[in-house]
Amino acid sequence: MPRRATKRGSERTPLSGDFDVVVCGASFAGLAVARELHCSGASVLVVDRYEIGERQTSACAAPTEWLHNLGLQDSIRQTFRDLVIHRPSRTYRWTLPWTFSTFDYRTLCGLLADQGDFVFDTAKVDGITRGATHVVHTDRGDLRAPLVVDALGWRRVLSSSPDAIQPPDARLSRGLEVHPPASGEDLELWLDPKYVVPGYSWAFPAGDEVRVGVGSFNPRIHVKDPTVALAQDIGVDAVRYQGNWIPHRLRPATDDGVFMVGDSAGHCLPTTAEGIRTALYFGLACGRELRKVVEGRQTRGQALARYGSFSADHKWAFDWLWRVQSIVSGVNRHPAMDTALKVMDRPSFVRWAFTHYLNIAPPSFALEGARPYAPQPWRAEALAA
Ligand SMILES: Cc1cc2nc3c(=O)[nH]c(=O)nc-3n(C[C@H](O)[C@H](O)[C@H](O)COP(=O)(O)OP(=O)(O)OC[C@H]3O[C@@H](n4cnc5c(N)ncnc54)[C@H](O)[C@@H]3O)c2cc1C
Repeated sequence: MPRRATKRGSERTPLSGDFDVVVCGASFAGLAVARELHCSGASVLVVDRYEIGERQTSACAAPTEWLHNLGLQDSIRQTFRDLVIHRPSRTYRWTLPWTFSTFDYRTLCGLLADQGDFVFDTAKVDGITRGATHVVHTDRGDLRAPLVVDALGWRRVLSSSPDAIQPPDARLSRGLEVHPPASGEDLELWLDPKYVVPGYSWAFPAGDEVRVGVGSFNPRIHVKDPTVALAQDIGVDAVRYQGNWIPHRLRPATDDGVFMVGDSAGHCLPTTAEGIRTALYFGLACGRELRKVVEGRQTRGQALARYGSFSADHKWAFDWLWRVQSIVSGVNRHPAMDTALKVMDRPSFVRWAFTHYLNIAPPSFALEGARPYAPQPWRAEALAA
């Protein structure tokens, strides 16, 4: 359960101090790191420029089993077994070997934060001075800690590299969506060049709203007009916009003594732009390494090395999906895309492909670790419900 470091509103005082761990960013990645430090005895500060759960950062769809295994199932709005893919010529319905669920961002962040044992406060992180004890500079004061995590998203704010990549030259995709009040039955994707050629479009129902958006793998291609067009085509209002950049290349997960987790390390999967599950996965992995440091079982250097190589071990999967993304960008306009989809449109292929895809960051990982909180493994039979 997070506690506040300082008072809110007009009584707010400067924020400074010494901690064992400072986690910068209180979304999926940062909260997963903090969760793994529960009852470790470490003093942990989590900072974000917004309150926890205040600013939704995505369409919020993730594999259901991940949400259950982390004890986050109460945030679920809607669950889908099928994926519906629209091409101009034909619509495909693929039954997946596992389900996706849309969830409520604020509820999920609250549930995840409640599993942690940390101090939280709002501050804008501006940079870092590195050392045996790092100093994190914020708009409210300096925070000192030997262990610092950058879970601040694609900007990679705490990077030591002077050429920290910025759009539109960056290895980033562009995503925009609207959240009209509406309802729907299916998790739908459009591989339709009418909306975007290098990318795809989606409509994810989530109870009393539908999240309708367009993602472009090419950061120079704007997606507002196609988002409005898709909303019109499916008969919903283009209201309540939400957009961001999405990394599509893996980057080093450590940076001169700092742990980078989630979008800051490019942990979002290319092709699908699925970055929630991976932010949770690498967040848990990072938190487990940090826990060993604060418990005196390894040094910071060893934790950096182990976490860095854990992330790098997944490079093959990210590279592979990046190649698929490049192919989709190249053939989306051509009949070759229809031929490829027809070949894939077999239950055995869908089962095989999506099982491998899930195993890039498997839900069973959420059940590992030294944390005392151990949710019950999610039973596969629940899929039938
Ligand atoms: C339109 C869109 C739809 C998407 N839909 C999905 C989806 O359905 N499923 C999926 O798996 N992925 C989706 N993604 C990708 C997913 O949103 C990201 O990969 C995921 O949010 C990464 O989590 P994170 O914790 O690393 O970063 P973020 O969720 O971006 O969190 C970063 C946190 O850092 C804070 N922050 C940033 N800068 C500062 C600063 N200077 N000081 C203090 N705080 C700061 C932010 O307030 C935020 O809380 C989508 C992305 C977009 C753009």
